[in-house]
Amino acid sequence: MIIDSHIHYSPSKDFLKNLFAECDRLKIDKVCLIGKRDELVSAIAFASDRVIPLERIRLGYDSEQIVEEAKNSGMMGLKIINPAYNYDDERAFPMYEKAAELEMPILFHLGIVARKDDAPDIRDHHSNRMRPIYLDYIARNFPKLKIIGAHLGNPWYEEASMTGRWNSNVWYDLSGSTLKKKSPQFIRSLLWWDKPNHPYQGHDGKHPYDKIVFGTDVAVEWMEDVMNDYKRLMDELEIPEEYRRKIFGHTAAEIFGISVN
Ligand SMILES: [Zn+2]
Repeated sequence: MIIDSHIHYSPSKDFLKNLFAECDRLKIDKVCLIGKRDELVSAIAFASDRVIPLERIRLGYDSEQIVEEAKNSGMMGLKIINPAYNYDDERAFPMYEKAAELEMPILFHLGIVARKDDAPDIRDHHSNRMRPIYLDYIARNFPKLKIIGAHLGNPWYEEASMTGRWNSNVWYDLSGSTLKKKSPQFIRSLLWWDKPNHPYQGHDGKHPYDKIVFGTDVAVEWMEDVMNDYKRLMDELEIPEEYRRKIFGHTAAEIFGISVN
């Protein structure tokens, strides 16, 4: 079971057709698709067994009611980016509480946000509100909430690593520029707590490779390139087959409650 846990819906012509043709070629079974609700409803109609729909919501603008509406419309999780305040602000707690209660995992954008000068709200993008350390407070307060942090927190990798180590309900994808600019040894230095016979373990005994999920976050024609980056990382670190399977899909399946046969 291979799951790409980070793909953005595109309104471009034949997007879904091209996406799943590429998924077939790369042997990707399912994708977490991020978008507006109506876009995702049409994607579910196109390929219900392959889409894990994540509705993009605005923290500080939407009310927590949106979580229930999303759930009732068939959404399986939420995506948050560009919040009105820091992710760990307690004004966001009703949203997190609802998401935990309704078993809706949240994919949080982490770290620096791409600057697109034509975005209507470009001046309202505070990368600093999306630091990985904020996930720590959320994860401790909502232990049932499943949290995926995007991009391993780029550029705040140490915060992401330690937040992951101490919270079994936090995972990360390695999409974005990280696998282009950082060496496998650098990633390994962040995912360090599996040395034999030492007392520094992860929360709930989780292995550091249990914290990583495969996600591409690129246009369809670049998915293979990111997949190759993940493969190269796993080859160079000699990651055992058991963890490769987890990273490529089994962990994401567990997060979203999908059975793997
Ligand atoms: Zn993204």
